[in-house]
Amino acid sequence: MKQKGQLIIMSGFSGAGKGTITRALLDTYQDEYALSISATTRAPREGEQEGVHYFFLAKDAFEQMISEGAFLEYAQYVGNYYGTPKKYVEDQLELGKNVILEIEIQGALQVKKMMPEALLLFITPPSAKELEARLRGRGTETEEVIASRMARAIQEAEGCEVYDYLVINDNLEQCISHIHQIIQSEKSKMNLNIDLINQIRKELNEMKGE
Ligand code: 5GP
Repeated sequence: MKQKGQLIIMSGFSGAGKGTITRALLDTYQDEYALSISATTRAPREGEQEGVHYFFLAKDAFEQMISEGAFLEYAQYVGNYYGTPKKYVEDQLELGKNVILEIEIQGALQVKKMMPEALLLFITPPSAKELEARLRGRGTETEEVIASRMARAIQEAEGCEVYDYLVINDNLEQCISHIHQIIQSEKSKMNLNIDLINQIRKELNEMKGE
């Protein structure tokens, strides 16, 4: 009996390493995970590709999708819209894949409300100093954007108590296997396995009658 996939929301400070962690999970445990590609109205950064990193949309196209109910969630972040197209996520969960949403906190809260079984992970570097160093190290952002992301990080930390797990990204490999373990444990929860246990009960009863 194939279990439905686990919906995983990966949030954290900009620069916490969510993207690297997600890629590593996809590489290491290939068939088990799927990554949701978000839509956004922000401009592509250098090297970013349409349909790989994001679906880059004009504001009116994004708003059209909102009105059609095509998003699982959406939010505004640093002046742009970001949203998760619903269909891909639902299809992959049905196929048994653990679907990763790399989204910020407003969107995470919307999803948790609709789907309480979603697993919310908050990723952080070990310290604020390390966070700033990583933001600078990326070298793709202006000082203004870095300042606005550091300011936003304060707000994000305020809301993170609602997440299920806090994961410190210090050593990347340990962090990835830790996250994989959390997900495996989560999928063993009784309330996510009712169909399986009912099947075993049924078989036991049939065997008793033989
Ligand atoms: P960036 O512009 O650095 O790619 O992303 C900015 C923030 O938007 C990050 O915190 C990222 O996780 C979040 N984000 C990306 N896609 C989505 C989405 O579909 N929905 C929401 N709510 N946030 C998103």
